[in-house]
Amino acid sequence: MKSKKIIGLFLIVITFCFSFVTVFSYVTTDWGYHSKHCGIDTSTLNDHYRPAANQAIQDWNSSGIQPNAFVFQDTSSNNKMYTVYCDCASGGMYDVLSKNENLSTNKTTRFRIRINSKFVVWSTHYNIKKSVFSHEIGHARALGDIPTGTNTLMGNMRDRLVIFAPTADDVAGVKSKY
Ligand SMILES: [Zn+2]
Repeated sequence: MKSKKIIGLFLIVITFCFSFVTVFSYVTTDWGYHSKHCGIDTSTLNDHYRPAANQAIQDWNSSGIQPNAFVFQDTSSNNKMYTVYCDCASGGMYDVLSKNENLSTNKTTRFRIRINSKFVVWSTHYNIKKSVFSHEIGHARALGDIPTGTNTLMGNMRDRLVIFAPTADDVAGVKSKY
């Protein structure tokens, strides 16, 4: 009897462990950019921020989201990145500037991404800047915030020095929407 109980407990523990491997925590929204091809103009940023933004775009493209979705620099795009000084709690902001309500999802037709120079000052560590830009690009690819999340790009409680590129969870979320 005792050994059956132990085997039963063992199976529960195994099942519990595997549930962590397969269950994702991503959240999606209807506010991703409408096209799977998402150009962003980073020329609107100054030299303190543009390299991190460009690297964030490259990180998304090499994350495994292709061929479902693409992100690329495009100086002719209406989707632009800016710095802003905001006396608010945000490190970065994703704003929908126009949308097409006739689309069932991915309704955004134009957006802007802003990095808050109050918190992410010019001398902030490169990886923290990259983490903020990459997170906001995640919103443009239909991902929502995970308020208590620590181990994905969309987790608001992540250590931005450590999590600064899309994780498998973030990639799975994008692929579920494109
Ligand atoms: Zn967010």
